[in-house]
Amino acid sequence: LSERLGGVFDRLTKQGALSEDDVKTALREVRVALLEADVSLPVARDFVKAVQEKATGQAVTKSVTPGQQVVKIVHDELKHVLTGDEDPGKLKIDNPPAPILMVGLQGGGKTTTTAKIAKRLKERDGKKVLMASLDVNRPAAMEQLQILGVQIGVDTLPIVKGEDPVAIAKRAKTQASLGGYDVYMLDTAGRLSIDEELMAQVEAVRDVSNPRETLLVVDGLTGQDAVHTAENFDERIGISGVVLTRMDGDGRGGAALSMRAVTGKPIRFVGLGEKMDALETFEPDRIAGRILGMGDIVSLVEKAQQTLEVEQAERMMKRFQKGQFNMNDLKMQLEQMMKMGGMEGMLAMMPGAAKMQKQMDGAGIDDKMLRQQIALIQSMTKRERANPQILQASRKKRIAAGAGMEVSELNKLLKMQRQMSDMMKKMGKMGKGGMLKQAMK
Ligand code: GDP
Ligand code: MG
Repeated sequence: LSERLGGVFDRLTKQGALSEDDVKTALREVRVALLEADVSLPVARDFVKAVQEKATGQAVTKSVTPGQQVVKIVHDELKHVLTGDEDPGKLKIDNPPAPILMVGLQGGGKTTTTAKIAKRLKERDGKKVLMASLDVNRPAAMEQLQILGVQIGVDTLPIVKGEDPVAIAKRAKTQASLGGYDVYMLDTAGRLSIDEELMAQVEAVRDVSNPRETLLVVDGLTGQDAVHTAENFDERIGISGVVLTRMDGDGRGGAALSMRAVTGKPIRFVGLGEKMDALETFEPDRIAGRILGMGDIVSLVEKAQQTLEVEQAERMMKRFQKGQFNMNDLKMQLEQMMKMGGMEGMLAMMPGAAKMQKQMDGAGIDDKMLRQQIALIQSMTKRERANPQILQASRKKRIAAGAGMEVSELNKLLKMQRQMSDMMKKMGKMGKGGMLKQAMK
């Protein structure tokens, strides 16, 4: 994708704001990328539409192309859609013993993931966990869980041949209560595809155990099928989250976005291998990068934005150190303040901040006032801005009138600029070290 987008980016023109055409061109490629990453068509369509509305009209950062900036917006939106509000790694396991029901198709990685999560709960959260296999269909399925249990040092419910899944679930609950377990995990059987018998069985287990969490385990490599599986299980059983396995493979993770969009349920963990510690909390950033296949572009855009801010601050610092502070500087300051919705952000970057802040506070600065002051400065000529002391009474009247304000307001502004300029000169004389010391006060 990066290559294809690169071509599009080159054709895009640089200008002040993202035009509708810029956005459309870049988004066409993004849509293809989403589909290639296995995001379903309606989900991709909705997503692109949402981004288009957000991106059009946004200011373009100078050091990147509009196309790259669209990608950044796409990335941020992807992250937003994938995340939701919850902390994905936090399972609801208060009120012991808390049942966790593991569901999914056969071979998706349920048994493996059950053990991985049990290990995580034991080691990271210090929980006492009991695992029970309800898989009465597949030969040796119960033994598989038992072996994993021994391996990770987590108890498993003793195997009783001939019991049905509901009876096993009941026994697990009793054992968990009596044994003082914090959590008990029910690893259910799967089928190769969704069928009535499977769903009825899982439903029955759900009804007797009343699980705190119902985690659907799906193979991340199955793409669209994974989404159908999620839709079906959520409708029939009601899931509280998804674990995407085999993300160590080369699946592109588009299923994550579709699943989230279709079910509204969060992705909680990703499986990254067969080993017991190959489980990670879901990180939307990584999947978003994977879906778009363009991690470097995103970090580039971020860096460019930071660089611009730093450059501007440094340029100002240099002038301040020379004791220069004219109306242009003041205007820039005022504009920054408006942008940051307060003074702290901007001033925090500069030495002498505390003092200046006091000065500004004294002047009673709010948004409306900032706008008026900027308007006053804009009414001045270039020469006047660089050298405000040349202003005569008649010019002052004209400037104030031009901005729709009183001369007294303009005088206040001039006084503020003079005071700041004086302060800069004083601090400039003290040298860099002195300024910093001053700033610490
Ligand atoms: P179940 O039928 O849903 O219980 O699936 P299993 O837990 O038995 O897993 C089926 C196979 O997938 C096993 O060989 C696992 O080792 C493997 N597996 C499970 N999770 C992952 C994963 O995240 N990555 C990889 N590469 N293999 C996995
Ligand atoms: Mg299994």
